Amino acid sequence: MNVYDSERMVEVMEGAGFEQTDRADDADMILLNTCHIREKAAEKVYSELGRFKNLKNEKPNLKVAVAGCVAQAEGEEIMRRQPLVDLVVGPQSYHRLAELEKVAHQTGRAIDTDFPEEDKFNVLGVRPKIKRAPSAFLTVQEGCDKFCAFCVVPYTRGAEVSRPVQNILNEAKELVERGVREITLLGQNVNAYHGEGFQGREYSLAALIWELNKLDGLERIRFTTSHPNDMSLDLLEAHANCEKLMPYLHLPVQSGSDRILKRMNRSHTAQSYIDLVDEIRRARPDILLSGDFIVGFPEETDADFEATLELIREVKYGQAYSFKYSTRPGTPAAERDQLPEKLKTKRLYELQTLLSQQQKTTQDSMIGRDLRVLFEKPGRLEGQLVGKSEYLHAVHVFAPRSLIGSVQSVHITASSSNSLAGSLI
Ligand code: SF4
Repeated sequence: MNVYDSERMVEVMEGAGFEQTDRADDADMILLNTCHIREKAAEKVYSELGRFKNLKNEKPNLKVAVAGCVAQAEGEEIMRRQPLVDLVVGPQSYHRLAELEKVAHQTGRAIDTDFPEEDKFNVLGVRPKIKRAPSAFLTVQEGCDKFCAFCVVPYTRGAEVSRPVQNILNEAKELVERGVREITLLGQNVNAYHGEGFQGREYSLAALIWELNKLDGLERIRFTTSHPNDMSLDLLEAHANCEKLMPYLHLPVQSGSDRILKRMNRSHTAQSYIDLVDEIRRARPDILLSGDFIVGFPEETDADFEATLELIREVKYGQAYSFKYSTRPGTPAAERDQLPEKLKTKRLYELQTLLSQQQKTTQDSMIGRDLRVLFEKPGRLEGQLVGKSEYLHAVHVFAPRSLIGSVQSVHITASSSNSLAGSLI
């Protein structure tokens, strides 16, 4: 979502007469968009800011802005600790970035970490008509009401809000006109989407996907990230029957122990998750499942950890993200007794070994198959293109550049650590 937000902030500043540069030396304004999910997020922001100290001394008119969830969570503190920051803006108010830049010019500093009444997406308006890469993100839902005990999202992104269907269709249409062929719908809790639809009806994520399915020129739809409790029947049905919805699902479980899931406030059990996976696979047998895992959550015993490994063995993931638990200030789990770092490292290693084996098995099983690949960009080798399969594997193929932006059939011949290779059919 930060990639999407950064693009939109660049557009806001372009509307105010700025041009984008990736050289800090050339900049009149440096914008640091931050994520609070990573460990020691705030410290990383301060060390990153330190790099601009000399530049700021040389160019006193240079404006330094901090945006994103760290800005939201620690805005005042950032202003206090780091005098070189002129401007702090939270994820719900970045549509005001250009105004804030002006305020910072006039008064020295500006901060906006409100959750404003107006919808930022309405204010952001139409995007410029420049050509885009074939795959794009589109935020449809923000915030979360679930309050998992380890997570900062409900505090930094606020309560769940869904964009109206018409706004999303308009933005999707613009993206397609600019060359986009695949859209990934984004939301912190995307399958809880419940936006204003047509004829006064509220639309679910599945209903939104069916609307997007009608869009000429759009070839692929994906969505992320989902909560197991919000996998509704109509979404399973969409996975079974909607031709543009890709057979890939990121469905975090976090732990396989019911005791730990309860302490995490996840409100599902290991068995309800496994039953759900069975239902999903009945609807779409070839779906590639991806998951998130936290090891070493406070109070996690050997038996709890073993239950997580057991769940992984049962589900069989094609892709996964796994982390050692680390505290997020302000969240309930941060106040609890923490497990030793060494133990967390040991468990993470064991868990990742198992997940890597499953990932490799899934990837290797693609050899000999014919996949549909959306070509996205040139590869590292001369004459090579890189694209994505339906299952989100990167695929390398020798093919003419003119095929970038198109979906082609590819016969898979090899599998390496993080990608597949094949030839055009
Ligand atoms: S459902 Fe996801 S975003 Fe919401 S609190 Fe839990 S982990 Fe965070």
